Amino acid sequence: MSDCIFCKIANKEIPSNLVYETENIVAFNDINPQAPVHILVIPKKHIESLNELYDKDLAGELLESVKEICKKLNITDYRTVINTGKEAGQEVFHIHLHIISGRPLKWPPG
Ligand code: 5GP
Ligand code: ZN
Repeated sequence: MSDCIFCKIANKEIPSNLVYETENIVAFNDINPQAPVHILVIPKKHIESLNELYDKDLAGELLESVKEICKKLNITDYRTVINTGKEAGQEVFHIHLHIISGRPLKWPPG
């Protein structure tokens, strides 16, 4: 999608700090980190949210990539978050999975 910030990051039209890339997925550091480690994992393809994710292979790749990214960065303890919809805190409507780590995390989230 032409005006989607995460599509632009995936296409490298705008710079980001990429930490991982495959044919279908990229991961990069969040611009406003909520913990010492805060990575966003996205499919290169524009999909608005989890509610529009029908591709099981891609869903599997997204989850598997989390494991690979954490292995690569020596992260053992982390939280994964997918915000879906405005009320749940979704601000960017290109599906993304947060990996948050590097400090103790409270539960339940706010
Ligand atoms: P959401 O609230 O939609 O689940 O998460 C969106 C995340 O994207 C936020 O944590 C926000 O800091 C991050 N973000 C928004 N715009 C940019 C950007 O241009 N570059 C990067 N690296 N992160 C962004
Ligand atoms: Zn997009």
